[in-house]
Amino acid sequence: MGWMEDVKQGKLTDIYFERSQEILKKEGVDPYVTMEVVTHTLPEGYKWAVFTGVSEVLSLLEGLPVDVYGFEEGEILFPEEPVLTIKGRYSSFGVYETPILGMLCQASGITTKALRCRVTAGEKTLLSFGARRMHPSISTLIDRYAYMGGVDGISVIKSAEELGIKPTGTIPHALILILGDTVKALLAFDRVMDEGIPRIALIDTFGDEKFEAIRVAEALKEKLYGIRLDTPRSRRGDLKRIVEEIRQELGIRGYGHVKIFASGGLDEYKIKELSDVVDGFGVGTSLSNARTIDFSMDIVEIEGKPVSKKGKSSGMKEVYHCMRCGERIVVPSGEEPACPCGGKIEKVTQKLMENGRIMMKWTPEQVRGKTLKRVRFLSV
Ligand SMILES: [Zn+2]
Repeated sequence: MGWMEDVKQGKLTDIYFERSQEILKKEGVDPYVTMEVVTHTLPEGYKWAVFTGVSEVLSLLEGLPVDVYGFEEGEILFPEEPVLTIKGRYSSFGVYETPILGMLCQASGITTKALRCRVTAGEKTLLSFGARRMHPSISTLIDRYAYMGGVDGISVIKSAEELGIKPTGTIPHALILILGDTVKALLAFDRVMDEGIPRIALIDTFGDEKFEAIRVAEALKEKLYGIRLDTPRSRRGDLKRIVEEIRQELGIRGYGHVKIFASGGLDEYKIKELSDVVDGFGVGTSLSNARTIDFSMDIVEIEGKPVSKKGKSSGMKEVYHCMRCGERIVVPSGEEPACPCGGKIEKVTQKLMENGRIMMKWTPEQVRGKTLKRVRFLSV
């Protein structure tokens, strides 16, 4: 992995950190510090976010003389909660502030957006189609973190390979345009593609969605798994009404089994509008271009003494969660808090690394399982 080598060598960082290291070295100063990663606000009025990217941070710090405490991959976070605390001599990790934040901010942004979409999509199928909006060097990263946030499938071949799942896709407009007709393209797909791949017809290329839907259903009958609408905004009108009309027309003709998928410009709010009429959603730009969770990383202790810049609270802190009322409690490290409700308290902050040795590992599948369990407690 070329870029990780550059990160480890301290090249993918801001120059002022490297200059600081040089100055401290010349001055013979290298204190033992505690640095804390926290966000003070969440984007777009979010009430919560999901913390991801920590596995990558641990890989970066592996082997260094540092201890790391923090949230597990996929943990829910709220503003002002320290999600990661790193302890060690400043010279051993200070230069990594830039890549550490970059890893956490983008990953958490994507996973948060995916889980927000999952919350409004409920049990409906949710797919990540956003690779085309971002540089290909980060396609697999986008899909991995979207998957952790609860999407059911992803479209990029390499991402699926890494996640150990099958990539998901339908029919592009290009195939229909080249073959000249929606039904012709669908029949060709059916002739060539393996039996196990669901037949999902794209029905918005040439004609009206309703009549195209009836045509593809009549052509493939019970073999037709679903139809997808990707109608451009300029031609869309009321998408919900169009879907209802299609469903009714297919139903009375005996094609009630045909699932209806929507894609194109969707986010958690549009999914909410459509979730009672649509069976599945392909989400693109809003996932891959998800707003980052803007964490910052600051010194909170030097040589064991609390110290911090203005506007930040000093000293190492840990986060607890009340199992009864859900209250989150942030206390100075070592303190045992109690919830006013008297409920049992659970520690959210965990020890993740001891002297460079990684103590916790999570697979994307495990993280996805954990985030999905939380869906019923969350709202957007
Ligand atoms: Zn409580």
